[in-house]
Amino acid sequence: AALAPEEQAAIERRIRLLGPAYRLFYQTPVQVSEGRGTRLFDRQGQEYLDAYNNVVSVGHAHPRVVEAVQRQMSTLCTHTRYIQDGILDFAEQILPTLGGTIGASGHIMFTCTGSEANDLATRIAMHKTGRRGIIVTREAYHGNSYLTAGYSPSLGTSSPLGTWVRRVNAPDSYRHDPAELGRRMAAEVTATAAELARQGDGLAAFIADSLFSSDGVYDNPAVLGPVAEAVRAAGGLFIADEVQSGFGRSGDKMWGFQRHGLDPDIVTMGKPMGNGYPVAAVALKHDVVAAFGRDTRYFNTFGGNGVAIAAAHATFDVLRDEGLQENARLRGEQIRSAIQQLASRFDKIGDVRGAGLYIGVEMVSDPEAKTPDADEATRIVNALRERRVLISATGPDANVLKIRPPLVFSEADVDWLLNDLEAVLASA
Ligand code: PMP
Repeated sequence: AALAPEEQAAIERRIRLLGPAYRLFYQTPVQVSEGRGTRLFDRQGQEYLDAYNNVVSVGHAHPRVVEAVQRQMSTLCTHTRYIQDGILDFAEQILPTLGGTIGASGHIMFTCTGSEANDLATRIAMHKTGRRGIIVTREAYHGNSYLTAGYSPSLGTSSPLGTWVRRVNAPDSYRHDPAELGRRMAAEVTATAAELARQGDGLAAFIADSLFSSDGVYDNPAVLGPVAEAVRAAGGLFIADEVQSGFGRSGDKMWGFQRHGLDPDIVTMGKPMGNGYPVAAVALKHDVVAAFGRDTRYFNTFGGNGVAIAAAHATFDVLRDEGLQENARLRGEQIRSAIQQLASRFDKIGDVRGAGLYIGVEMVSDPEAKTPDADEATRIVNALRERRVLISATGPDANVLKIRPPLVFSEADVDWLLNDLEAVLASA
């Protein structure tokens, strides 16, 4: 649809004020003024189905989170240099859910963003190992700070990788034998760590998003266990970046790494943690942070402030009380199996994958050759937007539909999504 003059004016105003580095979604960008549950509303009160925003994982404007934030903001909002029960109560709640060594005797440190969490995790890993080499996946994204952008290849050429950074291939279950993925990736990590050792950097850490979102969404749970063994054998630490895959998103487990049955040294989390309020964290083993804690003072003005903790605690309570991990599992299975059905009618759907409510649908122009079709993915994303259904696309070739709704997605929401997806697939 052509842009209305006032929409065009809003876009120009935005570019004038915010500058050229920001991007909008969709050929016809969406103006939003309100959100509730899985729905967004524009100024005219038109309703959109939000099948994309994982930050508001318990739903836009969830009343329990809103109430907790308002109450805490009108009581006390200050930093971590005073004793406060809230932060300790929350730490006691969340640490055991991580299981393994961190769950038993680990710690949690608070930041405001996922980037900051990964930045801190990396500094701690470098200090602990006395090395600086980092291994990531080919199209990884881990943050916007100088350090994390240096190992976020998906940012492209504007952000050159550090000389101490190496990439390995993501576990592409569509193009490789799923039974071989773990062994394959572990072997690549071993060879890459040896390269880092030869150049004098050594391996400080391997870091991966447990659902490989920016690599195109890969869910095979047998991959990261062997990789963690290879990382440890090379003397490095395993950092699980749970910014995308944590907090029940995968349906199977609270944390994405738990699907792979491994015991990470460090776990980072963010995005859905405060249902929109900025709060993120680094959870880690005691011995990983012992020397850093002795040698360094850690302070983060806003990280772990009272309101951030109130938001995180309320969000976590809602996640549990409303059974949202289980909802993610059920709704996710429902969506994937329905799209599998569609794949038998539309051979441009090459692959359907994901876990829980993190779903990737790979569009191809030639199903035999598995040729990525970014144009078709873009067409679908924009045609759905015209029907007021919001999704996006990801992967190295931008041909993988990314469906990642709030975890409160209902059966009615699933029907809306699937009906419109089918119509759009048929309309090409
Ligand atoms: N890690 C992953 C896997 C992410 O997807 C993101 C954000 N897209 C980040 C880290 C950075 O988080 P933030 O934007 O909160 O800094």
